[in-house]
Amino acid sequence: MASLKDKVAIVTGGSRGIGAAIALELAKNGAKVVINYNIRKELADKVVAEINEFGGDAYAVQADVSESNEATYLVHETIKHYGKLDILVNNAGITRDSTFKKLNEEDWRKVIDVNLNSVYNNTSAALPYLLESEAGRIINISSIIGQAGGFGQTNYAAAKAGLIGYTKSLALELAKSNVTVNAICPGFIGTEMVQAIPEKVLAGIVEKVPQKRLGKPEEIARGVVFLCKDGDYITGQQLNINGGLYM
Ligand code: NDP
Repeated sequence: MASLKDKVAIVTGGSRGIGAAIALELAKNGAKVVINYNIRKELADKVVAEINEFGGDAYAVQADVSESNEATYLVHETIKHYGKLDILVNNAGITRDSTFKKLNEEDWRKVIDVNLNSVYNNTSAALPYLLESEAGRIINISSIIGQAGGFGQTNYAAAKAGLIGYTKSLALELAKSNVTVNAICPGFIGTEMVQAIPEKVLAGIVEKVPQKRLGKPEEIARGVVFLCKDGDYITGQQLNINGGLYM
């Protein structure tokens, strides 16, 4: 795929942080983008306006993707609005960090629901349309924490590691179709999610990153565009974008 012109993409959690950067980068490359959000409509509208400003085409859809009926609504709205679907970026995610001893069942289940069960919901609804695309793409935003673990993050690590297993298995099942399935594993990226980490802890993390800085949302977005445009023969992979923190 040389350009993403005429491609239609859904970015879950596309209203801020990494998702917003992915939506912008896809739109800059010509894709029509559905920007999903859950709560903060004003932020999703801002991303749509930014895309419209440079002549791109975007549309915001509210849906809590951890609920299967809402994920189905998101896909149906996309088809109603743009008539097709080529790219699904499963990006929506949350953290509810706590050491396992203090972790309550609600926070365990919520993190698994939003980070992992949502991906089942989105993929089930989207797959029939992706299979009709000449170059369908499923891109799952996992995490370095799913690869290496994280203190106080058993729930999040379980969800993100689950995404990697799901990526490889679905890639195998779809290998003979035109749909590729890949995961991106970001390291620590400067978004609201990371701003929630206490300053001292974050400084310690940055010190451990071989490149000595946080990643930028755009650096993840460029990985997504690469897989969409040039990834015909790339499937079942984890693309690590982490400044060398995990190799
Ligand atoms: P942010 O917290 O900045 O943004 C999260 C996005 O997800 C928002 O758009 C939010 O929308 C949306 N969202 C949350 N819950 C739901 C839901 N139930 N349904 C639909 N949308 C929802 O996160 P980041 O940009 O930092 O992270 C994006 C992804 O990247 C996540 O999957 C995260 O786990 C992963 N990641 C992030 C890293 C980082 O360092 N930042 C590192 C590795 C992975 P709203 O505000 O409307 O709720």
